[in-house]
Amino acid sequence: MMADGRSFARAPGQRGSVLGGCLCGAVRYRLTAEPKVSVNCHCSMCRRHSGAAFLTYAAVDRAAFQIERGELAPYRSSADAIRSHCASCGSPLTFVFDAEPETVWVTVGTLDNPDLAAPVENWFVRDKAQWTRLDTALKAWPGPPEPS
Ligand SMILES: [Zn+2]
Ligand SMILES: [Zn+2]
Repeated sequence: MMADGRSFARAPGQRGSVLGGCLCGAVRYRLTAEPKVSVNCHCSMCRRHSGAAFLTYAAVDRAAFQIERGELAPYRSSADAIRSHCASCGSPLTFVFDAEPETVWVTVGTLDNPDLAAPVENWFVRDKAQWTRLDTALKAWPGPPEPS
């Protein structure tokens, strides 16, 4: 079952790694460490970037994000962040804050097995589509998360 990330996670010598890629398959990547956190972002920019009601991202250390095939097409979406996508099919793939270059936020929808990065928080809830129902078990931030 090649499309199942769990199968790869159990493959010899690849313990703990998770695979993902874009819709057309031109870009493939590997996460070699567990995501630090996974969140749903309901901000208007994530909505437009994804074309969906919200975008789910998992944060990983840059060292643990490895491109296996193809390359990311970067797009500076604001003064302080760069997003990326597949240049062929347009799948959104990553988000990186200029201020935190060592953390790559990877779109969970492009993981072969998105169940490996279940979100624990909702961000920018004040900006969400009115018809989006939130899981009340998850922590909700009106805007961006505040430093603890
Ligand atoms: Zn693609
Ligand atoms: Zn967002």
